[in-house]
Amino acid sequence: MTDGRAERVARWIRPEVRRLSAYHVPDPGSAIKLDAMENPYRWPETLVDAWLERLRQVSLNRYPDPAARALRRRLGEAMDMPPGMDILLGNGSDELIQMLILAVAEPGRTVLAPEPTFVMYRMLAEIIGLRYVGVPLGEGFALDLPAMHEAIEREQPALVFLAYPNNPTGNLFDTEAMRAVIEAAPGIVVVDEAYAAFARDSFVDALAEYDNLLLLRTLSKTGLAGLRLGMLIGAPEWLAEIDKTRLPYNINVLTQVSAEFALEHRAVLDEQTAAIRRDRGLLFEALAALPGIEPFPSEANFILFRLPAGRADAIHRGLLERGVLIKNLNGAGGALADCLRVTVGTPEENRAFLEALQSCLA
Ligand code: PMP
Repeated sequence: MTDGRAERVARWIRPEVRRLSAYHVPDPGSAIKLDAMENPYRWPETLVDAWLERLRQVSLNRYPDPAARALRRRLGEAMDMPPGMDILLGNGSDELIQMLILAVAEPGRTVLAPEPTFVMYRMLAEIIGLRYVGVPLGEGFALDLPAMHEAIEREQPALVFLAYPNNPTGNLFDTEAMRAVIEAAPGIVVVDEAYAAFARDSFVDALAEYDNLLLLRTLSKTGLAGLRLGMLIGAPEWLAEIDKTRLPYNINVLTQVSAEFALEHRAVLDEQTAAIRRDRGLLFEALAALPGIEPFPSEANFILFRLPAGRADAIHRGLLERGVLIKNLNGAGGALADCLRVTVGTPEENRAFLEALQSCLA
């Protein structure tokens, strides 16, 4: 790059953006992919045929329904939404996180979340130019309620994100502690239930109880990561405002039709998530039985585990050399030092991962 161009980049790209490192997604090559919390199962061939038949009827020359009415209706039914609540759709829940932050963005305002958590809360807040405050989780990755109270009182955050279950730790926070945070927060509290399909609890029934509570869901973890469809659920007064930050036609016509089709065949996805929940238990036990490995209990479709000190980077590399890609969190430091995160795959994939891990530990 010429000096002149570098100078212009430095002059015109905002410092907050230049300081960021891009969200890194490694190329899995031919490795078994257990790094991104995807559902490992495809659909039966007969279902694929029926889906392709449905796609034939789509008019690619027309814009999609901008409000995705048919899909929103079906999602509402599928989710047992409390009466009076509405749904806003995003191109993945990532886009809804961005829309939420855009809707409150004003200089000097703060976004707050317990940490470690999903990194996009921080990244999008910083890209949009808001202050981001992370409040360290306590023992066992529990919410540190006194620290949360203190930070909320000090920062008066416009937005608080609580991932429930939390990524990358996999646990559900204590319900009473969550309620205390919702009650203490002056602004919006978003309970991000990306992993709801794998968890034994949800805040969906609490939506009507609190003025400031919104719920985030996604179809990504239940088997439709390729479609990119996230849902923000809450009172129409909030959603009508946040909707104004949405780009027109953000949910493309193939996603609308495919998601509707998938919801008509929900039993297939439900069976797959049930298998993942069952296999999560087996994977946890197998990890716990390995010497020096400490897996953390999970209510999601992944398991965080700690390795003997100083070995995480080499073992992560060793797994990849043996054909298994998982997520290395050691670089994040703090509570995640020496930790890796594995997505629950098919029984065969889990076995291959465990064998590769054993071989790395030997
Ligand atoms: N929230 C949480 C807690 C997540 O872990 C993720 C994905 N890693 C997302 C939201 C984003 O999911 P998507 O954009 O695929 O809906």
